[in-house]
Amino acid sequence: MAFYSDEIIQELKQQTNIADIIQQFVPLKRSGAGRFVCRCPFHNDHSPSMNVNPQMGIYKCFACGAGGDVFKFVMEHEKMDFKAAVEWVANATGFPLPELGSPVAPEIAEERTLVRELNDLAADWFVEQLPKSEKVLAYIGARHLSEETRRFFKVGYAPEGREGFLSYAAKHGFSPRQLVEAGLAVERENGGIADKFRDRLMFAIENLSGKVVAFGGRVLDKDKKPKYLNSPETALYKKGEILYGLSKAKSEIPKAGSVVLVEGYFDMISLYQAGVKNVVAVSGTALTEKHAEILSRYTKSAYLVFDGDEAGRKAALRTIEIVLPAGIVPKIVALSRPSGEKIDPDNFVNEHGSTAADDFRSELSKAEDWLNYLSHITPTDTIEERAKFVTHLKTILVNMRDRELQNQYLRLIAERYGTEANFIGIQAKEEKNRFHHESDMEMAAPIPEDEQVPWNALPPMELRFVNLIIASPSLWEPASVFFDLDFASSGVSLLASEILDELLSTALAEYSEHKEINLMRLHDSLSPIPAQVLESFGEETWQPDAAQKEFLESLAELEIRTAERFRDALKVKPITAETMSIRLELHQFASKTIRARLRSETDVSRDPTFFKDLLDYRTKLVEYSEKI
Ligand SMILES: [Zn+2]
Repeated sequence: MAFYSDEIIQELKQQTNIADIIQQFVPLKRSGAGRFVCRCPFHNDHSPSMNVNPQMGIYKCFACGAGGDVFKFVMEHEKMDFKAAVEWVANATGFPLPELGSPVAPEIAEERTLVRELNDLAADWFVEQLPKSEKVLAYIGARHLSEETRRFFKVGYAPEGREGFLSYAAKHGFSPRQLVEAGLAVERENGGIADKFRDRLMFAIENLSGKVVAFGGRVLDKDKKPKYLNSPETALYKKGEILYGLSKAKSEIPKAGSVVLVEGYFDMISLYQAGVKNVVAVSGTALTEKHAEILSRYTKSAYLVFDGDEAGRKAALRTIEIVLPAGIVPKIVALSRPSGEKIDPDNFVNEHGSTAADDFRSELSKAEDWLNYLSHITPTDTIEERAKFVTHLKTILVNMRDRELQNQYLRLIAERYGTEANFIGIQAKEEKNRFHHESDMEMAAPIPEDEQVPWNALPPMELRFVNLIIASPSLWEPASVFFDLDFASSGVSLLASEILDELLSTALAEYSEHKEINLMRLHDSLSPIPAQVLESFGEETWQPDAAQKEFLESLAELEIRTAERFRDALKVKPITAETMSIRLELHQFASKTIRARLRSETDVSRDPTFFKDLLDYRTKLVEYSEKI
């Protein structure tokens, strides 16, 4: 089976902040030094047991043992296989993956890069064009959009004329043909190429990581058609997978405990500006199962704020059917003026001024439960109507993934409409297009015994020494000099613990290959137990001076301990004149030579010969090891 190369996967991992990815599923809290904690989504966690370490690119739950890298998290959380997880992460970060097993692979990757660059260029250009037009400024002003909000959401203007963006892009080296590919220009019937968006207010559509992937263009003159013009689907943009505003709202939704779903760009932006930030818009398309899937990662509760007209009612009906199976319980909100006239969220915010956010939340508190909403708009007077309605409700419920929620609703419906609390005769939808596959579900298993770190067997001083070196870039070079290849191949190890020895030598190999110790790469190249030791390293950092001093003192101490270990090894051998004399020499070497040298200085880092002496002792130790 075709698969992405290790290089590609490594590059993607290096470019991905695991905290950004996990944050999309679970709220994270800072724990210092760029690390985070959260409640573990893989067991019933009541206190934050999961640690997320962006430098190492890993997460770890200390309660249930779940842990791994960004791909493992997505695999386990979203029940995907590895390849799908790689693609998911690439999509979330806007990373161009090559097309698999296809001869056009480089072109596709190139196209994604091209579309991304052109979208960025266009977004900035549209934003810069807006203030140049009096007409558009007046339009924006009437909607009370602040300059800050406008720039935050990259709201811009595509001017009239056929070649505004075309010629700007040409100055940046893009051909008209490339603009067509990116969906920013169109071919005309006469064979020429013209800007796709002309005289339109432009909304930049971002993916989850905040990269511009498409545009929505809205007419200013409401008689013009079409009212909305969207980018076509490109290598970066799949309409059914992107919700407008989610890149901004995603951290607000878990905080608020719900999402507010609206219909238009302006509805979304107005509410956000007013302070209702857990809002996203379904724009340019009806809500899809994929949308619901994505939203369900952030919340289990949605408010549908759709227009009061027939189209809005249909959209609400369809949305209820889509979000419930994904485990999101919808409520329906109808906004109106005191006169009873129905209005959209944008009007509501503008008409309520400074109290808009509070007034809007008070409307949310009056929202109607989806079941009541459906029963109000559906005739259920006759037995036939009731039967049809109950069948319809059960058809929605049968696809629900949350079994308990499903049971609760089924019982409620049974009580209300006097039906059986079961799904006999109701057909569930095919599962094949779903993200989640029960059969793939694997609970995070506890770490097997033979992969547990024998913490009691790790000398604390050695543990600290290895941590010190890895955490101190100023020590990477001297440590590599000390633990050079000759010493490594001598068979003498200063560290009594093989686990720590493996960790240190892998770190130094990483340094000699890349001239730096990249924690993510290091973590990847370790076997499971040393990897766990690396994960346990605290957030301690050392000032270069303090690091140097502790490094030299620790080296001396480790040399002393090594000499003593040699002596202990001789104790179990038959006593001969020779072994006795080496034992004595080793004792002298440890205490008289090294210990005395260590004590002769108050600050060994000030003595330029100290390191050189340590290197000599090291050579001496190798000589002893050959005698015993
Ligand atoms: Zn856990």
